[in-house]
Amino acid sequence: MLGPVLLAAARSDSIRRLVSAAPITRPVVDRYIAGESLDQCLESVRTLADRGIEVTIDFLGEDITQRSEALRNRDAYLALTEALAAEGLGERAEMSVKLSAFGQALPGGHELALANVVPVVEAAAEAGTTVTLDMEDHTTVDSTLAILSELRRSHPETGAVVQSYLFRTEDDCYALAGEGSRVRLVKGAYNEPVEVAHQDKREVDLAFVRCLKILMAGKGYPMIGSHDPRMVAITEELARRHGRKPGEYEFQMLYGIREAEQDRLVAEGHRMRAYIPYGTDWYGYFMRRLAERPANLAFFLRSLVSR
Ligand code: FAD
Repeated sequence: MLGPVLLAAARSDSIRRLVSAAPITRPVVDRYIAGESLDQCLESVRTLADRGIEVTIDFLGEDITQRSEALRNRDAYLALTEALAAEGLGERAEMSVKLSAFGQALPGGHELALANVVPVVEAAAEAGTTVTLDMEDHTTVDSTLAILSELRRSHPETGAVVQSYLFRTEDDCYALAGEGSRVRLVKGAYNEPVEVAHQDKREVDLAFVRCLKILMAGKGYPMIGSHDPRMVAITEELARRHGRKPGEYEFQMLYGIREAEQDRLVAEGHRMRAYIPYGTDWYGYFMRRLAERPANLAFFLRSLVSR
């Protein structure tokens, strides 16, 4: 019940101002965000590397309203790429990009987002790393997949994300399961209407398994973005069935969530990647994390009243 309310709040400017300004929010935010600066982010990358965990880094800046912000976000990713190259982290760290941060929702947004992401994908390739395009709400999926196929012409290693809650996603999985295709499968984190998406958690989970089967049977590189122990176990079983060794698929989890499970998978020889968000514009990301788990909201509210 609370999930949709929190997801609606994630897109409200007035609630954004209220929550972002409250200093008491900070300790809870810190659980999910690897700091506001590039230096803090790199520190987290090194700490995770010591635990055998690779990363995909997200510079927070979604839902912008100005073209200047799109350029600022592009430049932040170029600076991040330079830093990864300078630190020799290109092999351990890839980058996750939300095209809304590159102007996708502005007038002429498809072309604008493409123009802004191309230099980042090129710089990433030079630095020995890659980019994965995050998936946002359903209205953006066609544009994001079209930009993906444009980018893959010159940089086939560019990754995509598919969300099992969308009815269309099994078809997208078939289309994306080919040789060299890097695809992250997730359940989906936005507030979607009944016309396009499963609303029932059980249906979303069943669809996740169907998509997982398509990707694991395919020729691409599946990236399993889930903290759900059942999805992890089913992935392991499918890997055995299809003769996929660790490194021919990988697990991905969000920074700060189920860390013991992340360590366990590494200890068992799996390839594990953490999604690390950093930057000052953490509000939308933070609200989606609260919406995913009522206990997070309770933790957040307790921290407000205990001060
Ligand atoms: P759930 O059934 O939601 O959770 C399973 C268990 O995981 C829970 O019982 C709990 O123990 C733990 N858990 C899950 N969420 C939380 C949380 N917030 N805090 C604490 N514990 C939690 N979504 C998109 O729409 N687009 C994207 O591009 C995208 N990229 C992602 C990248 C990665 C690497 C990951 C892991 C997720 C991404 N997501 C994205 C979010 C995803 O869609 C889900 O909302 C999120 O992963 C929760 O689903 P779950 O599979 O973990 O399963």
